[in-house]
Amino acid sequence: MPLKNTSLLDNMIGVGDMVLLEPLSEDSFLENLKNRFDHNEIYTYIGSVVISMNPYRSLPIYTPDKVEEYRNRNFYELSPHIYALADEAYRSLRDQDKDQCILITGESGAGKTEASKLVMSYVAAVCGKGQEVNKVKEQLLQSNPVLEAFGNAKTVRNDNSSRFGKYMDIEFDFKGDPLGGVISNYLLEKSRVVKQPRGERNFHIFYQLLSGASDDTLKKLKLHRDFSKYNYLSLDSAVVNGLDDAANFRTVRNAMQIVGFMEDEVQSVLELVAAVLKLGNIEFKPESRCNGTDESRIKDKNGGLMDEKQETKSLFLMKVSSVLERAFSYRTVEAKMEKVSTTLNVAQAYYARDALAKNLYSRLFSWLVTRINESIKVSNMLIIFHLLLLPQDNSFEQFIINYCNEKLQQIFIELTLREEQEEYVREGIEWTNIEYFNNAIICDLIENNQNGILAMLDEECLRPGTVTDETFLDKLNTVCAEHQHFESRLSKNSKFLTDHSLPHSCFRIQHYAGKVLYRVEGFVDKNNDLLYRDLSQAMYKANHSLIKQLFPEGNPAKVNLKRPPTAGFQFRASVGTLMRNLQTKNPNYIRCIKPNDKKASHIFTESLVRHQVRYLGLMENVRVRRAGYAFRQAYEPCLERYKMLCKRTWPHWRGPAREGVEVLMADLQVPAEEFSYGRSKIFIRNPRTLFFLEERRRQC
Ligand code: ADP
Repeated sequence: MPLKNTSLLDNMIGVGDMVLLEPLSEDSFLENLKNRFDHNEIYTYIGSVVISMNPYRSLPIYTPDKVEEYRNRNFYELSPHIYALADEAYRSLRDQDKDQCILITGESGAGKTEASKLVMSYVAAVCGKGQEVNKVKEQLLQSNPVLEAFGNAKTVRNDNSSRFGKYMDIEFDFKGDPLGGVISNYLLEKSRVVKQPRGERNFHIFYQLLSGASDDTLKKLKLHRDFSKYNYLSLDSAVVNGLDDAANFRTVRNAMQIVGFMEDEVQSVLELVAAVLKLGNIEFKPESRCNGTDESRIKDKNGGLMDEKQETKSLFLMKVSSVLERAFSYRTVEAKMEKVSTTLNVAQAYYARDALAKNLYSRLFSWLVTRINESIKVSNMLIIFHLLLLPQDNSFEQFIINYCNEKLQQIFIELTLREEQEEYVREGIEWTNIEYFNNAIICDLIENNQNGILAMLDEECLRPGTVTDETFLDKLNTVCAEHQHFESRLSKNSKFLTDHSLPHSCFRIQHYAGKVLYRVEGFVDKNNDLLYRDLSQAMYKANHSLIKQLFPEGNPAKVNLKRPPTAGFQFRASVGTLMRNLQTKNPNYIRCIKPNDKKASHIFTESLVRHQVRYLGLMENVRVRRAGYAFRQAYEPCLERYKMLCKRTWPHWRGPAREGVEVLMADLQVPAEEFSYGRSKIFIRNPRTLFFLEERRRQC
């Protein structure tokens, strides 16, 4: 069969589509990735999945010329590129009205954020150009720097790591012009506000504000330029090479303006950022009471709240300072319709301070997202999604994030593997089942309503009596052990791993991506996510409209005695909504891989890449693709597209479309093993056949 010199096959470094790799093994897979990476080919396909290797330097492959090159071309026609996927998704959306989602996964620093920006800018470049359209495009693009300033931070692995999960839907009108979008965020890593792991920073905005704001602005906010004045800012890595906080601050301010923030809103936002910094500087000391207990008092020290009373006057703390001060010393508990005041000791006061700072910041972040959404209004067509994968410190947040990853992997398995197989069965195509690892069992272990880990955690949080992380762990161990005893579903393949080698206060889960050890400390507390009512009431009393708005439950007229849902419950609900949303869309996958741990260009650390290839399930993905068919099309459109290649089908074929396609393939002498006839579609085994058909068509 004559083959065109397509860039996917010939004139190419290595193999552009892993489906065509011979022989296929994990080693050859890695070798191909490395070979391509060494030659600046950072994109490789597995069928329609795009693997993206982070080059850690800018490559000249995102120019307007490239956009033109990929525009309106078939996916397999050109060498692999993220633009090919963006184009495919955008065109099926515009021409076939199929809702699309683009799922971008990979570990921190692998290039997910960049990939989502590249997709967005491609779509922005190829869709309409009217004035209104341009405004929407600009607003969509400019929402990024704002979200990054407030939601990203420097971590050990990535100088600009997103510390929240997000997805973005962009709505297009019938011509394919964007009408607007909606960004959903979930689970900002709010613990970072008060404490950062060694070598990492707080959210960018704090440093940006102190470095980039004018003297006048800082004076109004009563802030010092010096990072070291603030307890909440880690100093060991405050200045990051290649990160210009001052310039970024100007970009963010400018972006906020383009997105549609009013000047007074920007001011309010900055006031809140300043307030968080100042909260961190409040310190406490014990004061003995006559009954022998200690009660916390705000320390009267330089830099503390009291000494800064004058300064804080211009801030939200003015009206609330006495109420807030009290809220750091006492806590009101309601028991049997009675209000009882209990005192807080110093540790509890610090806890309350940090809880308030975290709440203030995370509510500000949610408000920003909502506010951006108001500007770029909404529905759901194209989703750009990205998330964090298996970070280092395995706390409650990571547990929740890994649960989300697990669900996404489940969808990936469901859609690409299971559906593939089911379609062959439906179409009556001969098929030998491929064994694949189904992670439903892990999802069940976490989310099962009765004895899932989240349900047990909730049960523990709601139980009267003394509840600690340890009692939760005991429960977990007992229930899971019981399951093992009864050889139930969790038993044989149990993904909850208990053995005596575990460190104290830990449990281990066998995630699809590998074993992860979780430290149980803080689980109960973070799941409760309670802010003492005295604190929310103090915030509600603030003479600051944004703060008031962020703490509606502090309104004494609206005291709701019902317990708010736990963090785990809320998250499970939002993951559920996200999954239902994804199920209704046509998925496109970008799998990002980090080539090394040094953020360096040109270095390919094989063991690191191998690990990622494993936990992204890429080998399984290739196997299914290879065992199957790379391409399929219903008979009618197939005949319509290629009928000009055969005298007997051109210009009109009278008879069933399937017979027309059979005549066509026979006439073109496509070898029989290259395709199969299903009930409603033709299945083409190899992209090569497709290139051949396309090329013949072009020559016509
Ligand atoms: P993630 O969102 O997965 O944590 P990022 O997208 O922020 O990772 O990527 C980390 C860094 O790697 C970026 O700041 C950028 O410097 C670099 N990078 C990622 N993708 C690319 C790319 N396609 N081209 C050039 N540099 C990239």
